[in-house]
Amino acid sequence: MERTILFLMSDTGGGHRASAQAIEEAVHHLYPQRYTIIIEDMWKNHTPWPFNRMPDLYGWITGPGLPLWRVLWSMSAYAYVQNILFILIFSFLVRSGANYLGMVRPDLIVSVHPMMNHLGMAWLRAAGLNVPFITIVTDMVTFHPSWICPEVTRCIVPTDQARDRALKFGMPPEKVVVCGQPVGLKFIAPNRDKSAIRQQLGLLTDRYTIMVMGGGEGFGKIYKVARQIAQQAPQAQLIIVAGRNRSLKHKLEAATWEIPTHIYGFVDNMPDLMRASDVLVTKAGPGTISEAFITGLPPVLLGYIPGQETGNVAYVQEHEAGVYARKPLDVAHLICDWMTPGNPTLQHMSQNAARLARPQASLQIANELCQLVG
Ligand code: UDP
Repeated sequence: MERTILFLMSDTGGGHRASAQAIEEAVHHLYPQRYTIIIEDMWKNHTPWPFNRMPDLYGWITGPGLPLWRVLWSMSAYAYVQNILFILIFSFLVRSGANYLGMVRPDLIVSVHPMMNHLGMAWLRAAGLNVPFITIVTDMVTFHPSWICPEVTRCIVPTDQARDRALKFGMPPEKVVVCGQPVGLKFIAPNRDKSAIRQQLGLLTDRYTIMVMGGGEGFGKIYKVARQIAQQAPQAQLIIVAGRNRSLKHKLEAATWEIPTHIYGFVDNMPDLMRASDVLVTKAGPGTISEAFITGLPPVLLGYIPGQETGNVAYVQEHEAGVYARKPLDVAHLICDWMTPGNPTLQHMSQNAARLARPQASLQIANELCQLVG
């Protein structure tokens, strides 16, 4: 009989769904047609109003509302505040989610979201199910403590630093496995010749190629930094990925560019675009950083979401696999410096980035899951 794996998540940012899909792909790759996989936005579809509208606020609160996010994140990271919040809200949230779990009757439950661990276990108990529950932490280093619910069967984390943090918040050591950040299998393909990929993408083959992006939502100072690079780096060409940010894409398309510039909306050929590039300018999203490592592309981090992405900046810098630069003009100057003939920095960073890569993470995680569910 086909077994069912249920992923609990919420679409706050693009990364949680992308992680679940990467693992889904890996499970089907390893064991074709053995498992039914359901990826469910539990917060939106199985909590009552007004809770079900909260994910809609995420874009605002991690954009213009960032100072408020910083306060909420730090306050809720205190264990006693978290416990009070859980006591206050869980009674409203348990019934609908438990009904859904009772209807699906999964053989394995997987959380890829910080809000789905304590709540997920409450749903599991209320539904009267006795199946394994796995947490897959999708933030690289400074994840929110709500990811850690010691009662889960297993907790998979992306880095050794995340493992230390999981132990600090009470996860028994034997339950923690370090696998890396789950990314799509298309990133596993061996790195092809850069010129060939550039040619295929319609880029000039002999120019330094700088890629600018801001997560799935095209977040951050993309326009400003791209304009600075175009003005300061006449020897380069630009790839700009606006993601789902349509107004940004229109604004980029309306500008006059001093250097060859290729503007995209949401793309599904990220491995090729990264492999065609020499430098990546991005916000500190864990998915993007992990993909950049696999393609040996050092990230210049232009911004980060305080809290869950704060540690990513330190992680990249400590390993000399990229840098943090907040001002668009500084980013442009830095990249120009790296492109100076004889400057070894870019190659050094690129080698360090490649050393941190974990291209097998999704397959390794899929294997862990399948071993548990049988
Ligand atoms: N991404 C993509 N196409 C785009 C823009 C982004 O496939 O046009 C992917 C990117 O490769 C990464 C994810 O979206 O896998 C973004 O995840 P990240 O954790 O970096 O940031 P988030 O969007 O979750 O804040």
